[in-house]
Formats: sequence, structure tokens, C-alpha cells
Amino acid sequence: MIAGALGLGLGLVIALALAAEMWLARRTARNLEATSPEDPVSLEPTPRGSLADAERERDFFLRFAREFPELSQRLHSQIDTRSIPIELTKILVRSFHPWQAVVVLRRHRVTSDPERGRTLTVAEVARSEPGIEKGTEIELGVGELGFVAKSQRVMSREDFDRLAPAVQEALGRGPDSPSFDLAAPMVFDGETLGVLAVSRPNLRSESSKAVFGLIAHMGAMALQNAAAYRKLKLFAEIDGLTGLYNKTFVQNSLAEKIAECEAEGTELSILLLDVDHFKNYNDVNGHDEGDRLLKEFSQVMSDNIRGTSILGRYGGEEFLLILPGIGGDSACKAAENVRQKVASHEFRFREKQPLGILSFSGGVASFPESGTESIALIRAADDALYEAKRAGRNRVLRASLHRHDDLDDDSPVTLELEKVLVDTPNG
Ligand code: GH3
Ligand code: MG
Ligand code: MG
Repeated sequence: MIAGALGLGLGLVIALALAAEMWLARRTARNLEATSPEDPVSLEPTPRGSLADAERERDFFLRFAREFPELSQRLHSQIDTRSIPIELTKILVRSFHPWQAVVVLRRHRVTSDPERGRTLTVAEVARSEPGIEKGTEIELGVGELGFVAKSQRVMSREDFDRLAPAVQEALGRGPDSPSFDLAAPMVFDGETLGVLAVSRPNLRSESSKAVFGLIAHMGAMALQNAAAYRKLKLFAEIDGLTGLYNKTFVQNSLAEKIAECEAEGTELSILLLDVDHFKNYNDVNGHDEGDRLLKEFSQVMSDNIRGTSILGRYGGEEFLLILPGIGGDSACKAAENVRQKVASHEFRFREKQPLGILSFSGGVASFPESGTESIALIRAADDALYEAKRAGRNRVLRASLHRHDDLDDDSPVTLELEKVLVDTPNG
């Protein structure tokens, strides 16, 4: 898709540059003929202004054609939507040397949020001034930028001025409203993603308007690609049922956090937990109710952990909580806190569970005492979780003081388990 856009764009730029070159050559030849002594009828003063304009136009296109590959490559390398308006402003400034350049974005799609989709926001501005600084909100159809967003037309100053007086009136253009010499919509799949606009550019001609439209088209492609990348990344990281991070993501995060702890000499703990008697919940209430429960369970967990913690779904009804910067003692307190919150939460049909409540069992393991690698830490936490199940469930145990990464797979595991709490219902 990007390659196609680049090819099309580059083709257009080269065609425009060649057209400008040929037009200039013809104009110069005509001027020479006109001033020749054999042609007394055409003895008018040479239209110097037009010739200078043509030269300026040719220089503009040649420079733009030369810079286009680099500008376009920089723009399309942006995967962060926030850097795209910055790059677009740079392109507008470099190409048109305007007095002001503005990039306006629509943050919400009309399809997902019709109300907020009617508003666009000034995302970047070169030379801001009152009324059009970063963050200014623009309503669809209001003012010149709003008009371009709604009509999806590339507009020059002359086009704006040619609009019927009634339309101009409706645009709400007053002496204080910003007015632009070139403005173009960034449209993808029929939807306006934003608007580019400049005032007092170095060149105002029909062909510079075409280049302006091309830059807006490139902007739309870059915005669309960044959005598609964000969506893909989200799908790759998030568990579809619960909305929590998925197993791959938490595994990678744990490895990264451990590396950070090693480098900075800090601590880290994990809590691996598993919902108690979940098969029974499914059997008694149905699989759909089981799904609903997993979602609610995830919400209760999320509501009761700190912002720096990372929570993910590790398996069917198994979850992993990473607590960066937290040592074993504090981690056990945090784990105990969420255990109590879950055990006291009024989940639907919890009374039909064997323990009379909906609960989980968990194992806590800490870096570096329980392991210095993610596999070893998870194994330590899993062993403690297994012991918690055996001890009657609805409890969290701590795998303490035994370095699991010192063990080979066959060596007997001698865990020192420290009982954090045995809850009264089954304790
Ligand atoms: P324990 O206390 O020992 O953990 O018992 P349990 O019943 O929770 O454990 P078991 O491993 O026997 O059963 C887990 C059940 O979780 C079996 C499986 O069908 C169910 N499960 C796994 N993923 C999902 C899911 O996405 N949705 C639903 N509804 N059920 C799931
Ligand atoms: Mg279970
Ligand atoms: Mg399980």
C-alpha cells in the first residue's frame, strides 16, 4: 500500500516538474518570438512577471521532486501517530515556506463515536497565533478548515473567495477567523482523517495546489498505516476475552523487567494464580457464564492492583501478575489483598461453588531469591500455587529462598513454602 502511494506520488511530482519545465520553455520561446522585430503586431512589453513566476514554479517543482523521496520516506517511517503531524508540518514548511502551517487531526472516527467524530483538533502548528494554536478544536463544517474537512475539497484562496456569499457566511469567516491560502483534506476510504493548511505560501498556482493535495494524500496514507500498525500490535498483545495482556506479552514483559532489575539492582515479584474449581463453575452455570465470570474476575483484579503492575491472562483461568520493584514481603501483602478482594466480591452464582465463594489460589516468587530468570521464577510460583491448591485452595503461598534456576529439571524440588494466609472458610 505504501509502495503504491509512493510510486503514484513520485510519478505525479515528476510529471508536474516536467510539465513546468516544458511550459517554461514554450513561454520563453513565445516571448522571444513576440519580441522579434519581424513581428511588429506583438510588440508588447515582455510579461516579465509571468516569466519570473514560471521560473519560481519550475524551481519549486524541481526542488520538491529532489526532496520528495526523503520527505516521503521520513513520513512513512512514523508508526507513532503523534509524530506524523510534526513530520507533515516540516514538509509543508520546507516545500512552501509559508507564514503559517497547520495540521488538524480527527481523533475519533465517526463510525465509533458520532458525537466526538464531529470535532477536529489542531495537532501541530508552525507559527501559532491566538485562535489557531495546538489543541484548538474545530467543528466539522465550521470555518475554512472545517469546510475542507467536510467537503473533502482541496482549496486555494481563490476557491474560498469564489464560494457563494451564503456559504462564506456559513463558514463563519470574520476578521478574527484564520484564513488560509491552501488547504487540503487527508482522506482515507472516504473518511476525513485530518486537514493540512498553509497561509502565505511561496507559490500559489493551480499546480502547487496539486502538490499540496499530494502531500495531504501522503499524510492520509501515513495516518492510516500508523493506525493499522497500532491495531495489529494491540491484537498481538491483548487477550480477546478479558482485555488483559496475553501470555506472550506478559512472558516478554517479565524477561524485560528482570533484565531491568539486574541492571539497576532492584527487586521484582510475581504472583501466578488460578481460579479455584472453575470447571465446576462451567459445569453448573454453563460455558458462557464461565466466560462472563473470567471477564468480571479480570476487572476485579485490575481494579485492585497498582498502575505499575502488569497483569495478563496466562492460560484458561490462570493469570500472571508482575510487580516490578516489589520484594517478596510486600508482594505477599499485595497478593493477599487481591485474594481477599476477590473472595469477598459478589460474583454471580458464587454460592454454588464448593467453597461457597469464588476464589483463587496463588504462588508468589521473587527476583532474585526464587530465581534470576523468568522461567525459573514462573516455575517457583507455579510450585507454590500447586501447594496452595493442595493445602485447600483460596490462599497464596510464597516460594521462598530457594533458587529455582540452580536446579536441573530432574533434581528433587524442595520448596520452602511460607503460608501467607489460610482463609477461614476452608482453613
Ligand atoms: P482447580 O481449583 O484445581 O484449579 O480446579 P479447576 O476446576 O479450576 O481446574 P481444571 O483445570 O480442572 O479446570 C479448568 C477449567 O477451565 C476447564 C476449562 O474448560 C475451563 N476453561 C479454560 N478456559 C476457559 C475459557 O476461556 N472459558 C471458559 N468458560 N472456561 C474455560
Ligand atoms: Mg482452576
Ligand atoms: Mg488451571
